[in-house]
Amino acid sequence: MKIAVFNDYRVGLVEGDSIYDITSAIPGASPAWPAIFMTRAIADWQSLRPRVLEARTTATPVPLSSVRLLPPNPCPIQVIAAPANYRKHIAEMGAMAVTRKGRSAREQGFFMKSTASLTGPARGIELPRSVTRRFDHESELAVIIGKTCRNVPRAQALDAVFGYSCLIDVTMRIEKDVAEEERVMRKSFETFTPLGPWITTADEIADPQQLSNQLFVNGELRQDANTRDMIVGVAELIELASSVMTLYPGDVLATGTPEGIGPIRAGDKVAIRIDQVGQMEVGVREADAGTPFGFELAAR
Ligand code: MN
Repeated sequence: MKIAVFNDYRVGLVEGDSIYDITSAIPGASPAWPAIFMTRAIADWQSLRPRVLEARTTATPVPLSSVRLLPPNPCPIQVIAAPANYRKHIAEMGAMAVTRKGRSAREQGFFMKSTASLTGPARGIELPRSVTRRFDHESELAVIIGKTCRNVPRAQALDAVFGYSCLIDVTMRIEKDVAEEERVMRKSFETFTPLGPWITTADEIADPQQLSNQLFVNGELRQDANTRDMIVGVAELIELASSVMTLYPGDVLATGTPEGIGPIRAGDKVAIRIDQVGQMEVGVREADAGTPFGFELAAR
């Protein structure tokens, strides 16, 4: 099942090039802030499922290309992210602070991105206006948590997964020889977490560690890897994160980027494609408003 949120916070099932509106089966689905209804629906999915399937049988499909896709969970409780989780990415980062001494996610643990940085294909990525820093794409498999859980051993961790999605972890790079800014800030600009275009439920993914992960900028292949090369796999990441805090239904876990990161600029089209999960294209533009804080490079 591929579950999308679209237009005015409606909920749909995607089949091929069509979307079936099943909003009537989702309690509380509405544009009212905060759009927490998908977090609740994911928590209650097993009991909602008969209503969802009923709504699907009576829905009239519309072309997927005719709707505006929002993040498939617009308001998760948490967005958790793995740093440095592919060897070749650690190598390409070299001496940059985040991966200093070659430490991977196993040694560093995880970080958080602002949940308010989520965006969908319809809105895309908005780079801060007039900021001359380098902004990079990171192509990542996203895990959507399915149940409230704490201290989950890795052997049981995949039972806590609701589904998977595509995630671009947009990042303002630190620069050599300048002060290190907090990673959370550099990755939490509004729209810096494109998620989508839908959630593919876990029953459709045979093995989350055997998925090709590709990212294209303006049609050119920039990242081309496989989730088998993750250092800390999905199950171990859940074990790690749930050892620190309770994970909630709808929580998003970004599993880290493979090698091939690079800059994006206003006017670019960035496409991410993860085998069996989905593919989405997001536009990049400059934000309408300027930032009063300039993010100038500060000397160390
Ligand atoms: Mn990342």
